[in-house]
Amino acid sequence: MSIQTVCRICRREGMKLYLKGTRCETEKCAFERRSYAPGQHGQKRRKDTEYGLQLREKQKVKRIYGVLEKQFRRYFSIASRKKGVTGETLLQLLEQRLDNTIYRMGFAESRRQARQIVRHGMVLVNGKKVDIPSYTLKAGDKISALEKFKENVVLKRSLETLQKRGVPEWLEVDTTALSGVFKKVPTKDEIALPVQEQLIVELYSK
Ligand code: SF4
Repeated sequence: MSIQTVCRICRREGMKLYLKGTRCETEKCAFERRSYAPGQHGQKRRKDTEYGLQLREKQKVKRIYGVLEKQFRRYFSIASRKKGVTGETLLQLLEQRLDNTIYRMGFAESRRQARQIVRHGMVLVNGKKVDIPSYTLKAGDKISALEKFKENVVLKRSLETLQKRGVPEWLEVDTTALSGVFKKVPTKDEIALPVQEQLIVELYSK
């Protein structure tokens, strides 16, 4: 996807979704320059229906994590069968993805980039190579990158963005050894995304 196409997603959702790594932190960010929806009628205030709002929220979460409809639906189905609050469990399952964790650890500038790093076989979980971006991590899992990944050109930039983003509570990261630990499954408050997951639950419960 081109930069314009990706940035249109943020403008459409009315918020920065940080889909383009370092660019998102600079004045080049399209949302900083034009924070209204793209298109001819983008600057007019839109009144969403209840269904429209629920749909928007689902799209937003899918886009943040880069998950397609079928897989998202599967996460929802797992979440609804688990004990606890379905919306929170849904977000927790998404956070437990290996690609998301690689991004959160600062080894990639975006989740999209993290997905490629995992697919290229650069990541080990508990010492074993895992090349499945959707791999679900559990508390205590140790994540590391192959030695050759240290030469990766985007890594330095990625680690710089981590300084701005900070390491989340539930992760431990050693940026020199390029390793870390998924200490625990985060709570909704720790995930701290501007998302109303209850709207997604309402949408799928119809
Ligand atoms: Fe583009 Fe800004 Fe969204 Fe990043 S945060 S993807 S630069 S509009």
